[in-house]
Amino acid sequence: MNIVLIGMRGSGKTTVGKILARRLGRELVEMDELISRRAGLAIAEIVEKYGWEKFRDIEEQVTDEVAGRDNIVNASGGGVVTREKNIAKLKKNGVAVWLKAGVNTLLERLGKDSKRPLLVGKTQRGDMEMTLRQRKALYQKAADLAVDTEDKTPEEVAEAIIKSLKKICCLIGDPIEHSLSPLIHNAGYQALGINYIYVPFQVKDIKRAIEGIRGLGIRGASITMPHKARAIEYVDEIDRLALETGAVNTIVNNDGILIGYNTDYHGALKALEEATSLEGKRAVLVGSGGAATAIALGLKRGGAKLVILNRTKEKAKRLAEMFDAEDSGGMEKLDEISSADILINATPVGMWPKTNESLIPKSLLHNRLTVFDTVYNPKETRLLSEARERGCAIVYGYKMFLYQAAIQFELFTGRQAPLAAMESALTQALEGGRHATHFDRR
Ligand code: NAP
Repeated sequence: MNIVLIGMRGSGKTTVGKILARRLGRELVEMDELISRRAGLAIAEIVEKYGWEKFRDIEEQVTDEVAGRDNIVNASGGGVVTREKNIAKLKKNGVAVWLKAGVNTLLERLGKDSKRPLLVGKTQRGDMEMTLRQRKALYQKAADLAVDTEDKTPEEVAEAIIKSLKKICCLIGDPIEHSLSPLIHNAGYQALGINYIYVPFQVKDIKRAIEGIRGLGIRGASITMPHKARAIEYVDEIDRLALETGAVNTIVNNDGILIGYNTDYHGALKALEEATSLEGKRAVLVGSGGAATAIALGLKRGGAKLVILNRTKEKAKRLAEMFDAEDSGGMEKLDEISSADILINATPVGMWPKTNESLIPKSLLHNRLTVFDTVYNPKETRLLSEARERGCAIVYGYKMFLYQAAIQFELFTGRQAPLAAMESALTQALEGGRHATHFDRR
């Protein structure tokens, strides 16, 4: 997990970057230096010889290289934001920090450094004013954090960044483009007016990502597919529920001690219990992965009689043994639904973009059933829509998502989650058919 410093030349990216790198025990990578090395020329010479477009092309190649690095402090070039794809790449596993400063301060800091070629103006001041005017909105859009560097020493700026990192929470998964976790958490922070921020990281190596959380002092993380089971190996303490379900979907960083939780359990139970009691009910659970395990535990504890069905029968059998289920098997046993009170889909089938899919034939749905689909995008899946038509009570997957996120919110911030604001942001996005993208994370 990287820190990516962005901002105008003179904003202090290299100086602050050196301090951050030393304090966080990371390597500093200066993108301009890499560009220069790659071209075998000083920046001014590249621009003079080939022009700015060529410079930006080399910068794009260097961006690819740097975006592939992990646990570095990256002092990026001032114009890296002018190509949106550069920033999208750098932010996949990096927190973008904008070092803000006004023109006078920037000029003062640059002093007589006239080695840098002018971009748009004829004088240093004119050039700086016009460039800042052009780029301000780009920095703003790209930044996860903005730190005002006016009247601050580089040490103070570095200190402010380190302090702000303690208010950063993140999502770790792969893929993460369509997750609505950033939207719902950030809506909660905004509703309470607290200066937390939630950013998604696309992560392949969960071990290194968790090292990154520890190293940067990031406050907490939501862990999503495919990392929930492996995350358990790298935390310092494991909450009882996470241990029982064998999955960590939440990490809280308490001054360097990482604690793993599972909030899916409570999220699913709360959503389900709003629609039905569990005691003595017969429940057919379809799926045997992480979500199904948390739900099976909840159903068992609530006194329900369990039937677990899964595409891979052996996994259903294993889960059934763990939770003393009445029966288990493959999809050929779906007619068990006819004698059930509760049906739960804990597979991704029906999820956007394959919204026309359902594992459950409509004819099996009857009006004594409560149907819970853990899929939350779209809000009403094909299964839920058909269940509604057949007179079943329905439980939206977004409710589980909302409640599990609310518990995370409380673990991260110590504040009660503003459920109404979080729910409204989520349902608006789902009803508007919006699918969050990586770049759209604030
Ligand atoms: P997981 O551990 O990867 O398990 C996926 C399960 O779905 C497995 O049982 C798998 O069967 C089954 N499956 C996958 N594709 C299938 C297909 N085409 N046909 C039949 N079965 C299929 O994933 P997970 O963490 O349990 O998540 C499962 C789903 O739950 C997610 O996709 C998400 O929609 C939902 N979920 C929702 C929330 C929420 O807050 N609403 C939270 C967590 C998860 P095999 O064993 O045969 O591979």
